[in-house]
Amino acid sequence: MTYDPDNIFAKILRGEIPNTTVFEDDHVLCFDDLYPQMPVHCLIIPKGEYTDLSDFSANATAEELTAFHRAIAKVVEVKGLSDDGYRAICNTKIHGGQEVPHFHMHILGGEKCPPMIVKG
Ligand code: 5GP
Repeated sequence: MTYDPDNIFAKILRGEIPNTTVFEDDHVLCFDDLYPQMPVHCLIIPKGEYTDLSDFSANATAEELTAFHRAIAKVVEVKGLSDDGYRAICNTKIHGGQEVPHFHMHILGGEKCPPMIVKG
């Protein structure tokens, strides 16, 4: 998948669309999801142009990979999720239900998450 520089998260990174920032460093931005599905619903994104988890895992630098994982710990701390826990989700491509083609991780918490997969 070619990176689309007009995706909504690229616009957020360029400051063209506002966000509620939870944490930021040289490589990572974390902000509240605009349509939260849980009391806490944050998105962590790399500042580099990676389309999805596979792209990021294969192509990010060691510095970017480390920064992203450290950001998870930071967000968990800032949002007070350490004790009761949380769910981390990376929807990936079509079968994963990914809507925004810039790699992101959802951090969901603040109450018990529902079953991960409901089979009808
Ligand atoms: P995906 O379905 O790609 O895994 O998740 C995309 C997420 O981006 C959704 O949870 C959606 O609510 C969130 N989102 C979409 N547009 C915006 C926006 O403009 N600002 C913020 N903060 N979140 C957005």
